[in-house]
Amino acid sequence: MKKGLLIVLSGPSGVGKGTVCSVLRHKMPELVYSVSATTRQPRQGEMDGINYFFKSKEQFQDMIARDALLEYAEYVGNYYGTPRDFVDKTIAEGKDVILEIEVQGALKVKDKFPEGVFVFLLPPSLDELKQRITGRGTETTSVIDHRMSVAVDEMGLIRHYDYAVVNDEIDAACHRIQSIVTAEHCRRERF
Ligand code: 5GP
Repeated sequence: MKKGLLIVLSGPSGVGKGTVCSVLRHKMPELVYSVSATTRQPRQGEMDGINYFFKSKEQFQDMIARDALLEYAEYVGNYYGTPRDFVDKTIAEGKDVILEIEVQGALKVKDKFPEGVFVFLLPPSLDELKQRITGRGTETTSVIDHRMSVAVDEMGLIRHYDYAVVNDEIDAACHRIQSIVTAEHCRRERF
């Protein structure tokens, strides 16, 4: 059976990866979303197993030791990682999987899965990114400043990606990603 695509949607925190991903899931119900594990505390309304698998530091370190994660990264004091088995199994079943992860983790996935489709989501501007991070209202000033400085460094890594998509408007960004997925399927029809 033909394997599914591994689509990696990445970019700085606050760029709207989460929103774009949830809209895409409605527009492309055939796309399977990989739920990450994290040691950060749930935000209001977040549910275990839906938004994340919420883990203690010990549980997360155990997953690392068992090589149960395709990639993981420490980000603003917490661990985030992609459970490996789910991704392998779903792709082997011929289904497309989407990971919504930060930049360091995405580059680790690229080492292991160079045939993946790597999409970097960009803010229309850095000012707009700061407004989005601040507007979320869930982070302290020092977390916002740290996320902004991480974001600037991450923009420099865009050359490692296959595609850049500006998130100026959610529906337009989703439409571009849908087009990318369609194009990648057509490209692979050659083999
Ligand atoms: P948040 O705490 O805002 O939910 O997520 C913080 C950052 O972690 C976001 O950029 C998000 O995309 C990223 N992230 C979520 N899951 C994973 C994962 O499994 N691996 C990596 N490397 N980053 C992740």
